[in-house]
Amino acid sequence: MTFDDAFLSVLNLARLILSRLGLPGTVFVPTAFASQRQRLRWSGIEQWLETRDAPELDCMSWNDLATLVDEGWEVASHSRSHPRLTGLDDHALRFELEESRRECAECLGVPCDTLAYPYGDADDRVAEFARAAGYTAAATLSSSLRNAGAHLWPRVGIYHDDPMWRFRLKVNPTIRRLRAHRMWPAHE
Ligand SMILES: [Zn+2]
Repeated sequence: MTFDDAFLSVLNLARLILSRLGLPGTVFVPTAFASQRQRLRWSGIEQWLETRDAPELDCMSWNDLATLVDEGWEVASHSRSHPRLTGLDDHALRFELEESRRECAECLGVPCDTLAYPYGDADDRVAEFARAAGYTAAATLSSSLRNAGAHLWPRVGIYHDDPMWRFRLKVNPTIRRLRAHRMWPAHE
């Protein structure tokens, strides 16, 4: 079970639910936001900033994240500043991957081995840079769940606006097997 973005609600809500189930989780943190104690903001969520729901965009602090590590969770990189990595030049891409890995390990005192690409957005070049930056695995979000190697690791994306029927479809083993078939398209 992985959570992108390090929303504070993962600490306050998801942690208790997973703890009841005896399951640890993984949080992927955009490290610059945790370090600067900034509200999370990027294309796709920033429309909430000026609403009464803005506190939902609060990011966990490194202390919060250390609490999760102490409880057996994995905390790893979601880049530094949450850009679309496929649009970055080599220099900026390397910086996002290497710096977030270093910052995560330094602030938590444990190695940072894995990465989730912002927006799940990656291609072969980005995956190769992730491998070169020292990550042992990196996760995408794609319609296809076909195994494309450790640095293009597919995940089933669950979102706040998924009604229960769609959630059930997404986690259904038969549907997941179909989505892992080579004939399933990569993009929705
Ligand atoms: Zn994200």
